[in-house]
Amino acid sequence: MIDLRSDTVTKPSNEMLESMFKAELGDDVYGEDPTINQLEEMIADMLGMEAAIFASSGTQTNLLALLTHCRRGDEYIVGQLAHTYKYEAGGGAVLGSIQPQPLDFEKDGTLDLNKVLRFIKPDDFHFANTQLLCLENTTAGLALPMDYLNQAKIFIEDNKLKFHLDGARIFNAAVKHGVKADTISSLFDSVSVCFSKGLGAPVGSALCGSKEQIKEARRWRKMLGGGMRQAGMLAGACIYALENNIDRLSQDHDNAQFFAKGLSEIQGLNVEYDPAQTNMVFVKLEEDSSDFVNFMKDKGILIYPGKDLRLVTHLDISIDNIKTVINAFKKYFI
Ligand SMILES: *Cc1c(COP(=O)(O)O)cnc(C)c1O
Repeated sequence: MIDLRSDTVTKPSNEMLESMFKAELGDDVYGEDPTINQLEEMIADMLGMEAAIFASSGTQTNLLALLTHCRRGDEYIVGQLAHTYKYEAGGGAVLGSIQPQPLDFEKDGTLDLNKVLRFIKPDDFHFANTQLLCLENTTAGLALPMDYLNQAKIFIEDNKLKFHLDGARIFNAAVKHGVKADTISSLFDSVSVCFSKGLGAPVGSALCGSKEQIKEARRWRKMLGGGMRQAGMLAGACIYALENNIDRLSQDHDNAQFFAKGLSEIQGLNVEYDPAQTNMVFVKLEEDSSDFVNFMKDKGILIYPGKDLRLVTHLDISIDNIKTVINAFKKYFI
C-alpha cells in the first residue's frame, strides 16, 4: 500500500529494529534505563535545553507542558486548529482545569501577535490568568518564518508569558530553513518533539525544558500512568531516528514539491502548496471524496477521506510511489 494519510504510518526499518533489539534496558521509573537516559540527554542537547523527558506520545508531552506551565484557573493562548487545543481530547481542561483561549491561525500558520496582545487578560479577578502562549511548528506542514519566531520571543519577554512549542515536526521546520533545530527551540521555554512522525520511530515523544520543569513533568507523567519500565527498546528506535533520519527529511519535502507540481498540472484540481510547505500537499475538492478515496484504495493508495485532502510524504514513500499516485489522480480526474 502507498499510505499518504500521515507521516505517523512509517514502519521501523531493519536497521532501526536492530537498534531496538540491541538497546540496553533497565527500569525507567527508577531512572535506570540507560537507553532512555541517553535519549533524554541527546534530545535535550540537540534542542539546547537543560533536560528532557521521554513519553508515549506527543499528546502526553503537550499535556505535560500545559500542566507544568499552568495552574488550575490559568489560561493558555493557542491556535484554533492547533493540536494542543483541538486534537488532544481537551486534556488541559479535563486534567489541569486550564482554560484555552483559541485564536485563528494566520495563513502562514502564525498567531498574529497584535491579536494575541488583545487577548492577554489584565490582572483582574474577573479573568483567568493568561500564563502561556503555544505555537506549532510545523503547522499544517508549514515552517513558521524565523523572523516571526524571533519577534514572538521578544513579545513573550515584554508580556511576561511562558512560551511552549508543539514541535512535533520541529526537524521538518529546521531542515526547511537550513538551520539547526536549536535555532528554533532555544527561543522557547519548552518544546515537545515527536520521534514517531517523519523521523520514523514507531512510538515516542519528548518534552524538553528546564531541569525544574522536567522534574515536575516526571510526577505528572507518573500520575497519568505514563511511567514505563524497560521502554529503552522504544528509545533505541528514537536514537536511531535522530542519528539517521533528520537530514533525509529534505527528500520528503522534495517529494511533496514534485507531487504538488504533478497534481497542479491536472486541470480543475485545486492544489495548495506554499513555498514554506514541508511534507504535505493539500487538495481542495468540490464534493465529498469517498468515491475517490475508494477508487484510490482499489489501486493500493490510502488517503484520509474528507473534502480537503491532506497528502503526506514520509520515509516509506518513494518518488516512484508519487508518480504512481499522480497517474491515479489523472485517471480519476481527467
Ligand atoms: C502528531 C502530532 C502531535 C502528537 O500526536 P500523538 O499522536 O499524540 O503523538 C502533536 N502535535 C502535532 C502538531 C502533531 O501533528
